[in-house]
Parts: sequence; structure tokens; C-alpha cells
Amino acid sequence: MATEARKTVGSPVVEGVGRIPGLGNCYTYCEGDEMFLIDTGFSRRAKSIVRAFGDSNMPMARVGKILLTHWHVDHMGGAAHLVENLHVPLACHANDAPFVDGRTKDPTPLLMRLFMRVHHAPVAISLKDGDRVGPLVVVHTPGHTPGSVVYHHPARKILFSGDSVVERKGHLTMPGTGFATSPDQAVQSLSRIRELDVEVMLPGHGVPVTSNFVPLLDDLIKRAPVEFLSRP
Ligand SMILES: [Zn+2]
Ligand SMILES: [Zn+2]
Repeated sequence: MATEARKTVGSPVVEGVGRIPGLGNCYTYCEGDEMFLIDTGFSRRAKSIVRAFGDSNMPMARVGKILLTHWHVDHMGGAAHLVENLHVPLACHANDAPFVDGRTKDPTPLLMRLFMRVHHAPVAISLKDGDRVGPLVVVHTPGHTPGSVVYHHPARKILFSGDSVVERKGHLTMPGTGFATSPDQAVQSLSRIRELDVEVMLPGHGVPVTSNFVPLLDDLIKRAPVEFLSRP
């Protein structure tokens, strides 16, 4: 049992963290007997996640909670299937919960919605800033969506950053402002992330950042107002 608890699902990043890449990254995090799934990818059948657990010979029943960084379909696509089949509680920030469970209509333009049908899922746990989920602290970083969060492990200096900060070609960046509810807030949220003690960043898109996080984030904070807020 002890060896099973230490096994990683997905490509190992650092001790306890596995990455399941796809259109959006999903991660597994294991500490002691607790296993969390952070984001669920695009596929409504959660295929890549189911495959990753199968490849590791890990029963999916080991997942104790599913944590969403925000409601976008490339992150919550597989949630409905997993909640239905595993009966795992799904957690996300209270501001994004109505989009995840379908109480609020998806504001995505119709044309995009035709390609990215959202499958809603019941939210068992509505999170707020400062909440703890096992060893992880919820930090509200609104802007990309109203309820975007990052999950911070203060002791291990690990950050699951969702789409609040992503990686592209060795740099940190943010998704295009066309996808953001409030680009101004998204830029402000970078300063909130800068206050956190982070060595390993696990982004929703791009590859994990395991060194130089602080200078890379400082560079983004410097560029962000021009890149994301300048208006013609
Ligand atoms: Zn997003
Ligand atoms: Zn995304």
C-alpha cells in the first residue's frame, strides 16, 4: 500500500506530482494517502486521465478530490464524467461554480461553443481565497475568469497556476485577453502570485517551470501592461 501511495500518475515532474498533458494540462498530486486531480482536460470522457491511471496501474478510486483552477472547457471537460463515475467531490472557486454546474449560461461566443461543448458537473465544494484543501492553499487570482484560482503548496513551494500564468517557449505569459473576463484584473493577479513562495510552477498550458520562476515572473509583470492592456 505504501508503495502505491508514492506512485505517480502521469509524467513525473517532482516528487508526488504527475502531469497529464493535453489541450490543457491536468496534474495529479499525491501526499501520503491523499491524491488530488488538478483540472480535468478537454475530453468530455476524460480519456487521457483514465489512460494515465491505467498506465500506472492506479485505481482511479484513489482520487479524493478534483480541484478545478477555473471553469473553461479545456480544464473542466472531463469533470462531469469523473464525478459521475467516481463520485469524487469536485471543488472550484465560488465565482466559477455557476459556470461549472450550468446555473449561469456559458458566455463563450456561440461559434466557439459549437466546437467546445461544455458538460456541466455538480460542484460539491465552493472555494474561497485562503481555503485549505489538504496541503494546498487556495489563492484567488481573478481576471482570466471571475473565479480563477491557483493552488499553492507553501511547504513544498509548488504552484498549480491554471491559466493565471502559463508557460510558452521558456517564458511565462497569460492566455490571450480575448479569453479573459477582465484583463486588468488578470494583470493585477500576477502581483498576488509574486507574493507566494514558489519554486515549481505547474501551468495549465506549456511545460512545468522548475527553475528561475521568480525572474521569469518578474519579466512577465514588467511586460504584461504593454502586452495585455495596451489599447489601439
Ligand atoms: Zn482558461
Ligand atoms: Zn486553458
